[in-house]
Amino acid sequence: MGQVIDKKYNGLSVPSGEKVKFVNGKPQCPDKPIIPFIEGDGTGADIWKASKRVLDAAVEKAYGPKRSIAWFEVFAGEKANNEFGSWLPEDSLEAIKEFGVAIKGPLTTPVGGGIRSLNVSLRQIFDLYCCVRPVRYFAGVPSPVVSPEKLDVVIFRENTEDVYAGIEYPIDSAEAKKLIELIATFGKTIRPDSGIGVKPMSRFGSQRLVRRAVQYAIEQKRKSVTLVHKGNIMKFTEGAFRDWGYQLAENEFAAATISEEKLWKEMEGKLPSDKVLVNDRIADSMFQQVLLRPDEYSVIATPNLNGDYLSDACAAQVGGLGIAPGANIGDNCAIFEATHGTAPKYAGLDVINPGSVILSGAMMLEYLGWTEAMKLVHDALGKTIQKKLVTYDFERLMKGATKLKTSEFASAIIENMA
Ligand code: NAP
Repeated sequence: MGQVIDKKYNGLSVPSGEKVKFVNGKPQCPDKPIIPFIEGDGTGADIWKASKRVLDAAVEKAYGPKRSIAWFEVFAGEKANNEFGSWLPEDSLEAIKEFGVAIKGPLTTPVGGGIRSLNVSLRQIFDLYCCVRPVRYFAGVPSPVVSPEKLDVVIFRENTEDVYAGIEYPIDSAEAKKLIELIATFGKTIRPDSGIGVKPMSRFGSQRLVRRAVQYAIEQKRKSVTLVHKGNIMKFTEGAFRDWGYQLAENEFAAATISEEKLWKEMEGKLPSDKVLVNDRIADSMFQQVLLRPDEYSVIATPNLNGDYLSDACAAQVGGLGIAPGANIGDNCAIFEATHGTAPKYAGLDVINPGSVILSGAMMLEYLGWTEAMKLVHDALGKTIQKKLVTYDFERLMKGATKLKTSEFASAIIENMA
């Protein structure tokens, strides 16, 4: 069942289905949600075809005819530019805004011409302040460490502030000169031949990110939330992030959380089963911690730059850079996406690993509350890799593996759902 929506986007009719609604920042998913998808550039077409088949199969297996996804193609990137003369058509933005939850393959970042990264644009337009990257190990994936299975973290990276806010002025610019003069009036010296970048971090921006991380930890029964910061050096930005994080946990989640300090003062370090531990680590030490004591961490909340580095480092640790899923989430919109690029040299060859979009799709199913379908995808993908049925990128690193095409890999995952 579903309602008929008359409006067309990019000249395409909306399939029969219903909108995902948001209440207090949370999605309310109907049985047949309309989900806009952006196929993506380069290898995107191969990846999307494979991913859609896997996601549809999981939903069908989990819920039979009761539930299904009404996929609705929207356009961005090269495909949009070729067909509509725009890298990010207004209709595509309207459709994502209207239907709330979307998924996308990788997009080319146009070089030159003043066109901004499409990924960054989407994050800003929809205020997707929270970048979520789950990192876990799938048995059999080639990894550079001895016990990759010990790392199972979900990283919540602030997506809108920090040195990524885009407030930067080049050497010798009028703005840089003016700022250097202004800062001199505070008694601080900056060399005159400096470029200047500004690192804004607000209480509002930090706390809304930490709130999502704590909520997730409580809902998913995760044992801890670690605030990762460089507050020993940058006291009023990174240090404040830590303080605001603790304050938020104390003010809004007092019954469900406990700080590390209290845990040792009041409970001799024994975490009660009904509490989520909130602790903090300095960013450089955290890079050691995830290698040396990976199983001590669960949910990580961190500012933009730390999160960028840490997500890729963690993904590499479990051998999963090519299959790492990701999502950018706001209060009224969420976009699930490939974390790798378009890998243009493999475009149209049906060889690329579709794992990142498949797992991002599984994240989307979990976000919509369709946990059973999410689990089917995870289990089947895990089984397929364990059977050493993999695409070229894993095959070249594994002994005795069978090299599958993108489409064959998707078929193997679907078979393994049985
Ligand atoms: P890339 O597309 O990620 O590809 C670099 C290399 O990574 C590939 O040649 C391949 O390595 C490997 N790789 C990437 N995706 C893979 C997959 N699904 N399966 C197996 N291997 C994979 O990075 P790039 O060449 O620097 O960027 C190309 C374009 O993508 C640029 O326009 C860039 O701006 C854009 N980009 C988009 C996103 C996004 O949309 N989220 C992210 C990053 C980059 P081997 O050749 O060794 O097999």
